[in-house]
This record gives sequence, structure tokens and C-alpha cells, in this order.
Amino acid sequence: MALNIPLITETLKTCLPQRDFIALHEPQFKGREWEYVKECLDTGWVSSVGKFVDRFEQQLTEYTDINHAIATVNGTAALHICLLLAGVQTDDEILTPALTFIASTNAIAYCRSIPHFVDCDEHTLGVDPIALADYLQTIAYLKNDVCYNKHTHRPIRALLVMHTFGHPVALDPLQDLCQRYHLTLIEDAAEGLGSYYKGQHVGHHGKLSALSFNGNKVITTGGGGAILTNDATLAKQAKHLTTTAKIPHAWRFDHDQLGYNYRLPNINAALGCAQLEQLPNFLNAKRQLAHRYQQAFAAIEGVHIFCEPADTKGNYWLNALLLDKLYADQQTALLTHTNQHGIMTRPAWTLQHKLPMYQTCPRMALPIAESLEARLINIPSGQGLLNDD
Ligand SMILES: *Cc1c(COP(=O)(O)O)cnc(C)c1O
Repeated sequence: MALNIPLITETLKTCLPQRDFIALHEPQFKGREWEYVKECLDTGWVSSVGKFVDRFEQQLTEYTDINHAIATVNGTAALHICLLLAGVQTDDEILTPALTFIASTNAIAYCRSIPHFVDCDEHTLGVDPIALADYLQTIAYLKNDVCYNKHTHRPIRALLVMHTFGHPVALDPLQDLCQRYHLTLIEDAAEGLGSYYKGQHVGHHGKLSALSFNGNKVITTGGGGAILTNDATLAKQAKHLTTTAKIPHAWRFDHDQLGYNYRLPNINAALGCAQLEQLPNFLNAKRQLAHRYQQAFAAIEGVHIFCEPADTKGNYWLNALLLDKLYADQQTALLTHTNQHGIMTRPAWTLQHKLPMYQTCPRMALPIAESLEARLINIPSGQGLLNDD
């Protein structure tokens, strides 16, 4: 059976501006970016403190309705601090999806803890609460309120979930599961700024959550990230740990623990303030583009566009085209054809347990992640693609 690949490329073209090359995602700077960055240069406040850092953090708390935001140098650094503050220790196991960007897994390894890979749900692309509940029932036991892996006898300390392409994972059932097994829930919301679960911005369920403002994310600060939490004590510790654990003082340099230089520079935060002002417009454009794709592909045999799960409003950071199972062997041919015709597409990330550093990590059966890896293709999704201007 063959898929009509030229028809798919043509259909993508009908949804996109007429250009020789369409990138997967591009930043857009049409707001007050120049003005704010110029202010940093004019005043000399370019580095790790400044009013734009404070303002950006304030704007993030208002936007997400989460009490505290701590800006960081990137999303990976934010995740590293989230895990440390969740009490993750050497040789703990941390449950995390096999289908994710490497930053989630690396942040676990930075804590000298061990990623334990779990499968995902076709309807959310994130951790499947039912499959995970079944799995924990067979491999986990509780002793003195700590969850242990029956096979390795290591503590299973936390569940790090990820909102794939901006689509919220099933947070309520996963939070219940965490309560049942005394696991700390952490959200890798790097892709999820502007995404809502049951009307609430993502990041509320996790004890701590991480955002990213890398160049390809919904908004960008060049590089950047943030830690979100509703817990005032954790927020204070997050600021401290990301500021080399320096005890504030007018001239003394005293540090009371192992800290990190993970602060977001003011010049990057200036970009962030300008970008956040445009976020509602970006989200509108992304939603409209997703609609356009969904309609155009409704009549195309063998493929469909991923739609936001029930109870959620996703940011449609990256749209995903899914091949029917029958056509999984056509993925490479479709990637080749679209890229050769000036439309940048790519598969999802290689599953984490296939990478050399993580091959020996514990994992459950991963049939859905394996299937999605073979069938999923990300298609151009930038906020500037709606109109050709
Ligand atoms: C982008 C991203 C991050 C963080 O990446 P940085 O480049 O360090 O900001 C983390 N997790 C996921 C799933 C991501 O997509």
C-alpha cells in the first residue's frame, strides 16, 4: 500500500504562504523588542540583574496565574533546579516519558538520578495514566511512605511529565497516581506556555514546573527558561540556587551551598517582556493555522492532524501529522519529499531509551511511544505563517 505523498506535500502548501522555504518554527519580533533591548544597552543593564528580569517574572506569574516565577538561563537549567528542589537524590529513579526532548532526561541525569521511562497515550502524546498505574502496580511497593522499585530496590521519587508540542498531559489522573505512590509531580512545561488544562494554565499541578524560551518556542528570549511554583519557600530557594547560592550583601561574597549561575540576563528578559505582550496574538495565529491544517487534511487518505485532547486548550506550538499505522513505513519517504520541496518537517525525537547514555535505564513496555515515533511528523507551525506579509 502506498500513500499519496505528492498530494500530502501539495496539501501542506495550500495551508502555507508561497515561499521557497518554510521553516518548522521561526521567532517573530514585531513588538517592542527593539525598544526594550535598546534600553538595556543605553543604561548598561545587560547582565544578570535588572528591571526587565523582575518585570518578566511578574508578567509570567500574572499570565500563568502561578504565584512565583524565577527566570533562568534556559529551560534545561530550570528543570535541573525543579528536580533538585523536589528532593531528587543520587540513585533515585524518576519516572519520565520515553517520548520527550533530551532536556527532560538530561536534567534527571544531572542530579545523578536515574530516568525510568514510561509510555504515552495516543490522545495526549504524554504520559498515559492508565498504563502507568498498571505498571506501578506490578513493579512498585511502598515502605515508610517511600515508593520503591521491586526489581532495583531504588526509591522512585518523582514523576516528570511533559506537555508534548504544547498539548497538556492528563494532569488530574497523574496527580492522583502520584498521591497514591508518594511521588512528587514535576511538569516539564517547556513547550506549554499558553496551554490550559480544564481552564487552568499548565504548571499548577506540579510542585515545580519549568518553561523554556528557546528560539523555537512559543515566545523566545534568545535562550531562557523559568521555574514556576505556588510554594513561596521553594520559590525563594529557586532564586537562591540559580544565583550561585549567594547570601545577599552589599559587598561580601558568601555562598551557603552548592549553587548555580543559572540566571537569565536582563537583555534576554527584555526580549521576553516584549514577546509576552504578543503572546495572545501568537496563540491566535497558531490556533488558526492548526484549524487550517485540520480542515485541509480531513479528506486526505491515510493521515490526520493531531487535535488537542478533551478538557484542554493547547497552544499548538508544533502541529503533528500522523500517518495511519498501515503507512508507518512511509515516514522517511514523506520527510524526504516535503523537505525536498521546501517544507521543513521532522520526526519526533528519537525515544530516550534508544540513546547510548540511557539504553540501560529501567523502562516499561513502550508500544505507543514506539508507534508514535514511527508515524509522527512535525510540520511548519510558526506564528508568522498565517499570512504572507
Ligand atoms: C525546549 C525544551 C526544553 C528546554 O530546552 P532549553 O533549550 O534548555 O530551553 C525542555 N524540555 C522540552 C520538552 C523542550 O521541548
